[in-house]
Amino acid sequence: MKKRRLSRPIQIGNVTIGGGAPVVVQSMTKTDTRDVKSTINQIKELEDFGCELIRVAVPDEEAAKAIKKIKKNITIPLIADIHFDYRLAISSIRSGADAIRINPGNIRDKEQIRKIVIEAKQRQIPIRIGVNFGSLPPGKTRNQNYVQYMVKVTLDQIRLLESFDFYLIKLALKAFDVPTTVAAYSSIAKKTEYPLHLGITEAGLMPSGIIRSSVGIGILLHEGIGDTIRVSLTAHPREEVKAAYEILKSLNLRQYGPVVVSCPTCGRTETDIIELAGAIEKYLQNIRKPIKIAIMGCIVNGPGEARDADVGIACGKGRGAIFRKGRIIRSVDESQYFQAIIEEIHKV
Ligand code: SF4
Repeated sequence: MKKRRLSRPIQIGNVTIGGGAPVVVQSMTKTDTRDVKSTINQIKELEDFGCELIRVAVPDEEAAKAIKKIKKNITIPLIADIHFDYRLAISSIRSGADAIRINPGNIRDKEQIRKIVIEAKQRQIPIRIGVNFGSLPPGKTRNQNYVQYMVKVTLDQIRLLESFDFYLIKLALKAFDVPTTVAAYSSIAKKTEYPLHLGITEAGLMPSGIIRSSVGIGILLHEGIGDTIRVSLTAHPREEVKAAYEILKSLNLRQYGPVVVSCPTCGRTETDIIELAGAIEKYLQNIRKPIKIAIMGCIVNGPGEARDADVGIACGKGRGAIFRKGRIIRSVDESQYFQAIIEEIHKV
């Protein structure tokens, strides 16, 4: 894995983005922002799942004003997502948004952007330049090379913000197509020092959306690129947060909650591993502490993986060996597998 690109750090509320800080997990609410109660409830649920930054859509003035009430009831920083109307950015900042996202594809007037920047500067609120393949501004070279055009649009917008002496900038260059996204981020990463928010836009339903996002975000993170991530799914946002942590855990970039290693099962399997691993994973779903569990179906790879985990089991015919921190602790009957693993988890 490549060394992480050292970006210029920015602060969104109490969360540091870039500058070597841990990669931050974010999501976006799927409620109507004007429905304050539902939006707060959804954010609180996402906070419980480990979401560290939340973005909300701001389609109108009422939504911008709702930010004030929402902010009072949540603990993670809030980013206002603005399209078309610069006045909504200003209202959102005044309502207490910790950052805003603007899309160069639909707020193009320089004077309007200058007005947003004045407001953001006053309150030291970062701006995410969120370039999106689906809403690129018109331009002569747009259809010739999409990657180059996305990078050009981003650089133009950076220069505009810098011309107003504004540097609290974060960038995103998202597309549905993974090679396009990877090429765009890889290119911009070499051209600026600003922190990067990664995502594959409109990635789709589960599991295909998770796979697509994991490939795109995973390639970039492996290249050392990326300071925050969002997995965009056509699903409840808790799935986005869970998937984001799985990506980060699989690259050893974050430790968060349990990791369950379980064998795929085969003709040697002596017990119902699918049921056992499923039951253990369900039991662990509210645990946030990092712990590695291995559920293995035989003695071929079982002991090695079980030994490497905090708690493991290598199942044999009717009996299984229970491991804790690399050592066999005891052997138990098949009917006690679940209970024995849970007991060891609690000891760890
Ligand atoms: Fe098969 Fe054993 Fe490997 Fe599981 S650990 S897939 S049972 S060989």
